Amino acid sequence: MTIAPAPPLSPDPVVRTAERSPGVRHSWRDLPAAHQPSYPDAEALHEVIADLASYPPLVFAGECDRLRARLAEVARGEAFLLQGGDCAEAFDAVSAEHIRNKLKTLLQMSAVLTYAASVPVVKVGRIAGQYAKPRSQPTETRQGVTLPAYLGDAVNGLAFTESARAPDPERLRRMYHASAATLNLVRAFTTGGYADLRQVHAWNRDFVRSSPSGQRYERLAGEIDKALSFMRACGAGPDGVRAVEFYASHEALLLDYEAALTRTDSRTGESYDTSGHMVWIGERTRQLNGAHIDFASRIRNSLGIKLGPETTPEEAVAYVERLDPQREPGRLTFIVRMGADRIRDRLPALVEKVTASGAQVAWVTDPMHGNTFEAASGHKTRRFDDVLDEVKGFFAVHKALGTHPGGIHIELTGDDVTECVGGGDEILVEDLHQRYETACDPRLNRSQSLDLAFLVADCVFR
Ligand code: PEP
Ligand code: MN
Repeated sequence: MTIAPAPPLSPDPVVRTAERSPGVRHSWRDLPAAHQPSYPDAEALHEVIADLASYPPLVFAGECDRLRARLAEVARGEAFLLQGGDCAEAFDAVSAEHIRNKLKTLLQMSAVLTYAASVPVVKVGRIAGQYAKPRSQPTETRQGVTLPAYLGDAVNGLAFTESARAPDPERLRRMYHASAATLNLVRAFTTGGYADLRQVHAWNRDFVRSSPSGQRYERLAGEIDKALSFMRACGAGPDGVRAVEFYASHEALLLDYEAALTRTDSRTGESYDTSGHMVWIGERTRQLNGAHIDFASRIRNSLGIKLGPETTPEEAVAYVERLDPQREPGRLTFIVRMGADRIRDRLPALVEKVTASGAQVAWVTDPMHGNTFEAASGHKTRRFDDVLDEVKGFFAVHKALGTHPGGIHIELTGDDVTECVGGGDEILVEDLHQRYETACDPRLNRSQSLDLAFLVADCVFR
């Protein structure tokens, strides 16, 4: 998605539709695939998959290549990645308001981080495809009733009823259309002037004015004011600040869907998963001999791999050998999610071993997934301070090793929900019930997300 100013896409149709890579189609099916739904009606699934395979690509190979080049800059320490969005997108949240709020939040965070890091921020949403979830338990029990767990809107419904929780392949079609509608709006917002840096900074000014921690952020906001005035005085043209590149990513979980959207690029003959610019393989499906890693090895998109606290340095290098044998910067992003109490102990050995292997991966911190706990109220939540502490630990490790802290991966929403505790507004456990709206994991709300950007800018980049 994107983009201006940018080279035009090839006039040749970039991707031949209705053609799936033979390699992708057959290989992963022979391997164990964790966390796949079991559909009662295989015929209905096949019909949907055949239709999806004939639909237009959602993103284009040339765009995926451009993101790979941006992530190569991240790997080299010449750019910083901001990746964020919902834990689970929901079909009923595909509205202009929700999408705009999320985008606005990401753009505001990005403006602060760009200034603090003094390098371009590569903006990637967990958006337009983040509809499927692996779950720790296959079932959920409430008041003596046991039903299949919610697996994301791509698979079943959140409502706790037998009919909602039954997997329905028609939902894959809805996922495609929801993703297309979201991408369409995001492309319009990011190229139509909405992302103008001066506008984004004005929103940040509003935030600083109204935030309880505003005084703390005032100095940074003032410095950005001055930098913008300086640019204006220098006659820096509006183009570079009016439109932004923005990319879409999601977890490549449902392999039937991802394979149906995988097409051969007519320019190069290579396979691209055109469901998103970047896809990642989650902590629960990253088995080296499993179907997900095999699928990922056959597509040319930039790949993320989530690495939890039990990951060994040998495993990390095995991902490099399997997915990035050419040691190509931009191909592989390791998204580490260790927990605030473990990041400082566990990360150094991974970074050292991977660096010694000659790989130039991008290292990114996901400070959300290792810091989840259940509050006394029964809500799944995260503490803002743990999130910030994991980010600090991640930066400290890279500083000690002389390697690049490449970016942050955050679960967030642009809405004023109450799902994580703490932050400038000091949300308490007792407040969680007020607007606990997530379909899956707790997200930072709009002001917590901006708090995080300002505090990361202030604490780790200075
Ligand atoms: C997620 O990103 O929502 C997720 C499930 O993360 P992980 O695979 O790291 O647990
Ligand atoms: Mn999550």
